[in-house]
Parts: sequence; structure tokens; C-alpha cells
Amino acid sequence: MTRKERSSKLVDAMISIVTGRARQRREAEEHIPAGTKIFARKGCRMVGRSTGTFRPCALEGCTGLRVGVRWRNGPLTWPCIKGMEPYRGGYRIQ
Ligand SMILES: [Zn+2]
Repeated sequence: MTRKERSSKLVDAMISIVTGRARQRREAEEHIPAGTKIFARKGCRMVGRSTGTFRPCALEGCTGLRVGVRWRNGPLTWPCIKGMEPYRGGYRIQ
């Protein structure tokens, strides 16, 4: 492979990551708008509301997004949407 081919492959890979992330963000914004109910793990009765803000998941190898969640007792956390499932009209952390 020539250097030019290699660099064009790299550009293609970068574009697909960026467009994948952009699409994922649009979908996330659509499915988890601000104010969506978020339930903590099974056995934990905490409930929070999504803030409507997202950031890329920093976990190595994870392509998901993290969503801001304000819990009823005050704290703000950023669970990864890849670890959430639909639950009672909102989402639950698995
Ligand atoms: Zn993740």
C-alpha cells in the first residue's frame, strides 16, 4: 500500500467514526431527551432525570455515549447508554 492509499484509508476510518458518533448522538437525543426518567440498577431504588447532554464514553473500546443524569438526591453522574435498557417509560442502568 502506498503512503497516499494508507492516508486515505485513515481519513475514511476517521470520517466513519465521526459520522457514526453524530448519528448515534442524534438517536440518543431523540430517545433520551432532557427529563427522561432514569432508574438505577436493579435493587437500587434511585431515580433520576436525564439532563439532555451527552459525551463520548471514555471506556476503552466503547463506542457509546454517556448521558448526564441528575439524581433525585442531588448528584450528577454520566452512565453509558450502552449499559442501559428501556424500563417503565424511561431507562434503567443494567
Ligand atoms: Zn461505554
